[in-house]
Amino acid sequence: MERLIAGAAALGTDLSPDQVAQFELYRDELLAWNRTMNLTAITDREEVATKLFLDSLTVFLALPQGLTPATRLVDVGSGAGFPGIPLKIVRPDVPLTLVEATRKKARFLEHLVERLELSGVQIVAARAEDAAHLPEHREAYQVVTARALARLPIAVELTVPFCAIGGVVVISVKGDFGPDVERASGAVERLGGHIRECTPVTVPWLDDGRALVIIDKLSPSPEAFPRRAGMPAKRPLA
Ligand code: SAH
Repeated sequence: MERLIAGAAALGTDLSPDQVAQFELYRDELLAWNRTMNLTAITDREEVATKLFLDSLTVFLALPQGLTPATRLVDVGSGAGFPGIPLKIVRPDVPLTLVEATRKKARFLEHLVERLELSGVQIVAARAEDAAHLPEHREAYQVVTARALARLPIAVELTVPFCAIGGVVVISVKGDFGPDVERASGAVERLGGHIRECTPVTVPWLDDGRALVIIDKLSPSPEAFPRRAGMPAKRPLA
């Protein structure tokens, strides 16, 4: 956990001993459940700290104005909880919604929230295409996150409709994402957003070209989006 503590500090977050204990428990639960179900390809304890926990915490770098208890945060395609749960551990006062289509993963998230004694977490076991049309979720979040949800042109259709006007969507990307950012920019405009920037982020101990795509939500997403389940991936917006 030394790497987590030092890395978080380098990213501007000083973790308390209680928070470090929560991250340890999270790591242990993740690796234990991962032995019987496919939650993550990462099985090394140090890599959990860097590639999953620290990478998740970079999202704070996109939110210089910070989060308040009035901020609603949603993580779409959360999987085993990234980046949503690490953000929640650091900011337990901010209400968090996790949208995850796979039932088994949603069940892990429920277990985890109980084990970590987190309050103010809502787990929605549904596809984003469906959840984003429900009034309680549509344009209801000031901050929307996604990490490894899908290629960027698909991910934007699954996330931007959740974002309130004036809010921000932060999508974690890595590798050769340049062409995807280019390709997604028209789709983002159709969804009522605008790509403000693509900011490179340095995760301590990692050097694999990670970045955050930051999208401002400027106007309502047309009712037609997201299209019905499966369509965003089948025919990505261009
Ligand atoms: N964000 C996590 C998981 C990435 S894997 C991480 O960074 O580790 C992508 C996850 O998104 C999977 O768990 C998958 O079940 C979920 N997912 C994919 N398409 C989705 C959709 N349309 N709606 C909701 N969840 C979806």
